This record gives sequence, structure tokens and C-alpha cells, in this order.
Amino acid sequence: MNITIQGARVVDVRTSLPRHKTLRYGRRKPSDIRSAALHHSATKSGSPEAFAGYHVSTNGWPGIAYHFVIQKDGTIYWCNDPETISYHVGNSNRHALGICLVGDFRTQQPTAAQIDAANRLIEHLQVQIPSMKQVFGHQEYPGYAWKNCPAFPMGTFRTNYSQFLQKTVGKVDKPMQLPVAIKLNEALLAVTGFLQEGVSMLPVRAVANVVGGKVEWIEQSKDVRVNGKDLNEKVIDGSAYAPARELAAALCLQVEWDGSTNTVILRG
Ligand SMILES: [Zn+2]
Repeated sequence: MNITIQGARVVDVRTSLPRHKTLRYGRRKPSDIRSAALHHSATKSGSPEAFAGYHVSTNGWPGIAYHFVIQKDGTIYWCNDPETISYHVGNSNRHALGICLVGDFRTQQPTAAQIDAANRLIEHLQVQIPSMKQVFGHQEYPGYAWKNCPAFPMGTFRTNYSQFLQKTVGKVDKPMQLPVAIKLNEALLAVTGFLQEGVSMLPVRAVANVVGGKVEWIEQSKDVRVNGKDLNEKVIDGSAYAPARELAAALCLQVEWDGSTNTVILRG
């Protein structure tokens, strides 16, 4: 599984971070997630490795507290599955997904790259996890009014985020307008497709890679083949998208459409 967010660099560190020898975090359904919780690291610099080490060795927690860490250069580190119930907002942990921006915003400012990456990440996650309707700062959760985290004004952040959403929709007016989520054997993929004239178009390589399908690019005819089958693909920003039914057939997967959540369900 990979996570592709247009305009952002994402590094998957879920399996490489320090974790507790025996303790494990609980799990939840993605639909249990209601909000994204923003944090600052309260350190001038830092890394997911350092935070995980601290949370495990000093706090005795099962693993890193956050689901995502955003470095000052805007790189997004993917630290926990969204399904992980990690410790970051106390009694609200079950329903919140933690995003930490590296920095001590009592004395520093988040960088423009960090805010941009946070906007792109939250937009991407809200497509994948439609129940995650809200974005709060740590301090806004019950019992945390005393905590100066993330130590930047959340009202401003949310206004900025709404403007960002309007801009992205306006900018890519046709092809990407209606994103569709992709579920493969009950697991939500981190990539999305889009709806075009009633047809769900899925990212060919991302989906094929998960099930070990063979993808070929035929330079002469500018054609994409999956397991030897020719598809009616559409290339956007260097990535090929193909109709869900064609791609599923080439990969020997069954396909269903859930119109209530805009999700393509693949099984095989
Ligand atoms: Zn916090």
C-alpha cells in the first residue's frame, strides 16, 4: 500500500519506527474517526524516530503518538495506520487522527511548506475517511484547554484550509473533481481515483502493485497494458488511470460500486 498526494512528499515509516516490545495500540474502524487533531512537537526540531523513541522509552507507550508527522520542509511521515488508536488526545483518542507539525510554535512559526502539506494531507484523508469531518487543535479537545498545543491559531488554520479546498477544486476543474475511494479486500487504499462521466477511473500502477499485477508501458503506441490486457487509460500528470471494470478484469478482481460513500470495492 502506498499513499500518493499530489504536490506532497510522503514517506511511509510505519514499520521502521521504534515500538514497544510487547504493548500494542488498539484498532478501530476508519468510520470511527471523526476529526483530525493537530499538534506541534513542542521541540525546535525533531523526527518521527526521535518522537517514537521518546513515546516508547520514556512514556512506556506502545508506539509513536501520531499518525502523521510533518517536517519543516513539508515532508509527510506516515507513522501509524489510521485504524490505530494511539495516545494523543486522551479520552478522544478513539475518534481522532493525530497530525504533528515539527516545531515549537510557542516561539516559532509553522513553515509555509508545513501548512501546505497539512492542507494536502487533510484533504486527501477526508476523501479516504469521509467520517473525518472536523479539524481541531489538541487544545480544543475536552479536558485540554490548559494545553498550549498546537500553539498556532486554529481559526486561521481552518479558514486557510477552506480557501485551499476551494482553490484545488477550481484549479483542476474537470478530471479530478470527484475523487473516489478504493477498497481492496476490505482495506482502504491510500490512493484515490476519480469519477468521469459516471465511470470510476482508478490509478493503474498503484492498484496493480498491491495485487502483484504486471504493468507495461508500450512506448510506440503510448499504451498501458496490465497482465497483457490493453486498457482504455487516461494519463494525468504522468499517471495512468483506467476504468475500474477494465482494470479489475485485467487483475482478476471483482468490482462493486458504493454510491453512498463514492467507493470502488475490489475483491479477489
Ligand atoms: Zn498536542
